[in-house]
Amino acid sequence: MPDAPATAPRATFASLGERGLIRRFRAALPARPDVLVGAGDDCAVVAWSDAEDLVLKSDPVMEGHHFLPGTDLRRVGRKALGRVLSDFASMGAEPRWALVDLVAPAETPAEAADALYEGIGALAREHGVAVVGGDTSRGDALELHVFCAGAVPHGAAMLRSLARPGDSLWVTGSLGRSFESGRHLDFPPRLREGAWLRERGRRACIDLSDGLASELWHLARESGVRLVLDPAAVPLSETCAAMPDPIAHALGDGEDFELLFTVPPDDAGFADAFRLAFPGTRCTRIGTVGETLAGGLVLCGPGPGARELPQGGFDHFETATTTGESER
Ligand SMILES: [Mg+2]
Repeated sequence: MPDAPATAPRATFASLGERGLIRRFRAALPARPDVLVGAGDDCAVVAWSDAEDLVLKSDPVMEGHHFLPGTDLRRVGRKALGRVLSDFASMGAEPRWALVDLVAPAETPAEAADALYEGIGALAREHGVAVVGGDTSRGDALELHVFCAGAVPHGAAMLRSLARPGDSLWVTGSLGRSFESGRHLDFPPRLREGAWLRERGRRACIDLSDGLASELWHLARESGVRLVLDPAAVPLSETCAAMPDPIAHALGDGEDFELLFTVPPDDAGFADAFRLAFPGTRCTRIGTVGETLAGGLVLCGPGPGARELPQGGFDHFETATTTGESER
């Protein structure tokens, strides 16, 4: 008697990982001819007028995953909007209108809403964003879902797919241990830096939400290029530098909300111009863009000893990560 066919293990969100999951449902998403950038970049971009493209983004923040119970809710509100604004920064776009959905258990004290919206409101005012509505629902844990719409000059959005051979790779701020240091609640979305970069010349850009390693791979794949990272150049946060293996944290921790971007080889004055424009923002060259390569590749080098960089950034659906920090 022939053996019964082996049943393949059922794919789950965890086994697919965030990328696999997006790839799985991406094909089923309805499109329209006015969609310029659909699922897969930091924000969606839609044709809107001759002067501007519309930019759209939403993001959830959930208790136990993105913040721990007992966290000051003003900071939680700030983070919920800040995550979305960081994605706008990576496109060089201007956020304008936000909608906020609040999910919470029925017994949540009323003051919680005051604190959350105080945090959201303060950051929104700082960046000229109007909060124009949303919805509320009863739920098992506290969740904020923020949707934001804004604009970018027509055809000027910075994308993950714009890295070119000969470019250099740069990052703002310093990386690693953002969750443990509390920086993930108070980071400044790099909107001014993003708009400045876009005005200086369209380029590849992505924000660091899931970890430098993961975002480098996104850039490499979407641009179809080989990237070479110089690990010794990666700027480490103070909390990260004190760890036994700081580079592993800088590569894998995530939640840094800094910008990773390219600079073309003919922009020799870039470093000085950035320093002059943003004296308070660290900006570091961390690598180069090598040749065109279908599928992309990230090497951890430099020099002949360079090896492939593991893709161990934070994945929202994988249970084990390089740093073991799955609780966000
Ligand atoms: Mg992003």
